[in-house]
Amino acid sequence: MPARTGKQFTAGLKSPREVWVDGERVTEVASHPRLAGAAATLAEVFDLQHQAAEVCLMPDPETGEPINLSHMIPRSRADLERRHRALKLTAEFTVGLMGRTPDYMNVTYAGFAGRADEWAVNGNDRGASNLVAYQKLLARKDLALTHTIVQPTIDKSWGDAPVAGNDVALHRVSATDHGILVRGARILATLAPFADEIAVYPGVPLPEGADAYALSFCIPVGTPGLKFLCRDSCTVTGSPFDHPLSSRFDEQDAFVIFDDVEVPRDRVFINANSRAYNAVMTTGWYPNVMQQTMIRAQTKLEFAYGLGCLMAETINDKSPATAQMLGEIWSYAELTRAAVRAAEAEAFEYGNGVWFPNGAPLTALRASLPGWFPRVGEIIKLIGSHNLLATPTANQFDDPSLRDLVNQFLRGANHISARDRARVFRLAWDFVGTALAGRNELYERFYLASGARNYALAHTLAPRERGKRLVNQVLGLVPLGTGEDASSAPKVMGLPRSAGEWVRK
Ligand SMILES: Cc1cc2nc3c(=O)[nH]c(=O)nc-3n(C[C@H](O)[C@H](O)[C@H](O)COP(=O)(O)OP(=O)(O)OC[C@H]3O[C@@H](n4cnc5c(N)ncnc54)[C@H](O)[C@@H]3O)c2cc1C
Repeated sequence: MPARTGKQFTAGLKSPREVWVDGERVTEVASHPRLAGAAATLAEVFDLQHQAAEVCLMPDPETGEPINLSHMIPRSRADLERRHRALKLTAEFTVGLMGRTPDYMNVTYAGFAGRADEWAVNGNDRGASNLVAYQKLLARKDLALTHTIVQPTIDKSWGDAPVAGNDVALHRVSATDHGILVRGARILATLAPFADEIAVYPGVPLPEGADAYALSFCIPVGTPGLKFLCRDSCTVTGSPFDHPLSSRFDEQDAFVIFDDVEVPRDRVFINANSRAYNAVMTTGWYPNVMQQTMIRAQTKLEFAYGLGCLMAETINDKSPATAQMLGEIWSYAELTRAAVRAAEAEAFEYGNGVWFPNGAPLTALRASLPGWFPRVGEIIKLIGSHNLLATPTANQFDDPSLRDLVNQFLRGANHISARDRARVFRLAWDFVGTALAGRNELYERFYLASGARNYALAHTLAPRERGKRLVNQVLGLVPLGTGEDASSAPKVMGLPRSAGEWVRK
């Protein structure tokens, strides 16, 4: 089946899966009131690829059938440019509020398959070829993937990576006739109730002796023993006028329990092999996937800027303080845009003929955005003040006894109607104040690990030769440079490959 329609995606949601929302095991994801809004939006995302086929689709390199462009293995800077346009359109559809539209994992697996040579280390040739075959299946069946790469926290003093004896973290129990049996848990599978399959791949490196935890595979979400415990839903049913974002964009996050799950042999990409596990994420993964995540982030920041501008215009707020804060949001958006463009312009071949953006500007964004997004939320609140809550509902506008009063007393400046004013400030509250807004702030703070960790990592990875040379030059210890190192863009490479290195970092 080539690129799916929304209808085909929705039909796929009927396949069995153990999804829990509160005390209820959900049987009909697409029509459950706590999940239906996002299910419908995701169906629209699948339709979008057909509506904008020129931008979103490409022929499968082997079958010629149309597949989503996010499955492309980039082999040039031009490929990355082309992918940029497709990712941007998808991001715009949810104004960057859904972080894990399927293109996120499509891009991830295209990158993995393109660098299968990195997966084929330490005797893992079979796992690498399984992965290449799987990426083709992912593209051709147009599956939606959720993923879980982080070990659950029981006791922070145990550290990030599980050591032998940890019975909570996902681990291999035994080999079976058809594959391997796994048990344990992982966090925090965004998109889980809406996904066709779940991906497990490395997060932080593992220490010596932790081979049982060194696993990577993809299996259908309905595989027996797989249980998804959704967090409290942020979906609000009723009028989209009242909750324009919460009614559509709650992509969900689920705690995943693998209660003795059998993974078929051909779906295992890393089988208790910590050397392979510790190697595969260290070079191309993040520059590749961050093209998707940072285009999304840019879109969300531009949306926030537009929203802030409309809020100010609605109440004719021309104060210097508001102008300053709006300029701050715009600056974050523009810095994000510029960093993405710089990363793409400085793209290079990472090996195996595969091209990814330069990781350095994206590393800087990865560390900065977890601080910028909460600040953007604060600015929207500061501009909005009480106006965020003085917002009649659709029902109040429709009530004959209230309509005239609401229209008179809650109108905006410069002849802006009460309805238009409420529309803007309701949107703003849904962006920064509702349960969905709280979840989204947490997402931005943590989905690529915390800003604190990422600043430390950025410093560890950053090239520092030029900075040191400039210091030595001004101290008179070295002559003025030739400019060669000044013009070459820094390339952040090589994430930690061992648990010890990671902890130090
Ligand atoms: C909404 C949401 C969606 C998510 N979706 C997914 C998903 O789809 N798939 C998936 O696999 N995971 C997902 N995650 C999990 C995410 O990957 C982790 O939350 C993330 O890696 C951070 O790990 P942690 O939560 O253990 O926090 P920690 O990294 O332990 O951070 C907790 C606190 O400790 C501080 N801290 C920790 N270590 C350091 C350090 N070395 N230096 C300085 N400060 C430090 C941090 O600043 C932070 O304040 C999601 C998380 C959230 C919140």
